[in-house]
Amino acid sequence: MKIHETLPLLPIASGAGVWLQDFEGKRYLDGVSSWWVNLFGHNEQRIKTAINEQLDKLEHVMLAGFTHEPVVQLSEKLGELTDLGHCFYASDGASATEIALKMSFHYWRNVGQLKKNQFLSLENSYHGETIGALSVTDVAIFKDTYAPLLRQSAQMPSPDSRLSMTNEEAGGEAHALRCADVLEVYLEQHHSKIAAFIIEPLIQCAAGMAMYHPIYLKRAREICSKYKVHLIADEIAVGFGRTGTMFACEQANIKPDFICLSKGITGGYLPLSVTLTTDEIYQAFYDDNVTRGFLHSHSYTGNALACSAALATLAIFEQDDVLHKNRSKTAYINQQLTNWHNLPIENLRNTGMVWAFDVKTSNKQFQQSFYQQGLAGGLLLRPIGNTVYWMPPYIISHDEIDFMLNTTKKLVTACA
Ligand SMILES: *Cc1c(COP(=O)(O)O)cnc(C)c1O
Repeated sequence: MKIHETLPLLPIASGAGVWLQDFEGKRYLDGVSSWWVNLFGHNEQRIKTAINEQLDKLEHVMLAGFTHEPVVQLSEKLGELTDLGHCFYASDGASATEIALKMSFHYWRNVGQLKKNQFLSLENSYHGETIGALSVTDVAIFKDTYAPLLRQSAQMPSPDSRLSMTNEEAGGEAHALRCADVLEVYLEQHHSKIAAFIIEPLIQCAAGMAMYHPIYLKRAREICSKYKVHLIADEIAVGFGRTGTMFACEQANIKPDFICLSKGITGGYLPLSVTLTTDEIYQAFYDDNVTRGFLHSHSYTGNALACSAALATLAIFEQDDVLHKNRSKTAYINQQLTNWHNLPIENLRNTGMVWAFDVKTSNKQFQQSFYQQGLAGGLLLRPIGNTVYWMPPYIISHDEIDFMLNTTKKLVTACA
């Protein structure tokens, strides 16, 4: 809070497309999609209409003993898209993580494997900040203070392709395979105590857009199956087209035991999250004995307005052929970047609709001055340390891309 003495909060009056507008009429290009939630811009007509129409019918009803049309339709759609047929809803990403962890543990308990009560995650992982989710998160600034409250979990080496050895091919495949070998050795020894391995597929976003080779996911799936450990895919940030496919797991052609989704699920309109799982896991809870059931609830579970926003979001993917169109946007940005020379940057990287690079600077204030000068120039970007990234709404136009790139270039030179 104290930082706002010198850096006042920015009150936003309205939004349209990729733009946010303040009360003085100054516009800011939302280059981070309002923290990765927005897909089709602010003030999207079809999502607004869907919410309004739902508002005229039913705003909410508890899902205990009741159901409603939007939640049934959404569950069927998500089931088709992920090939995981069972949905458990909550309102934010951290809750989706909690649900996956609890459900994994409870599954093993229901099948008599009482020792399987620990979790594995990757170094530099981020899975949310409630106490259970924070236990499998590995970002020191969020975690260290609360360490005494958290359950121990082990972290495996990150396949982050920047950690490849210098004489290796680009893309980090050899590094990813080495990391998978470490995972295998660990599970070989400890599998009897491990319920699940939770992972952010293809991009560890909060770690600074750490991208890695899909071979790691493929190997992780094989290893987890071999040692009977659940694989939880946390696609909260990367789901819904961000990596170029609807879900990042598709690029490794794997089916996880759980998928956690949130953020883009409603196009950035309303809070909603879901944890999807398999028939096999569902069946282990299906019993007359109520304590074998998954007794976990949130008051707003499956909120009808949020589900209607999610249905409208999924409809836009079909109506506008979004994944296909995004590919040409990705190509356009990558083409523009071939003209980026003589800048103090390294590790320029791209997966789908995410770009990042690391700025070589000794400026200790880099993060803050870049952010502040960006806003002054009408561009909202929030570097993570010295990593600058773009995660724009998918509807960004070529002119808007040019503005985002040119402004970024000037900011790098000014702040490095
Ligand atoms: C944002 C995020 C979360 C947490 O979601 P919240 O809605 O902020 O609780 C979990 N995992 C990943 C990968 C995320 O990016």
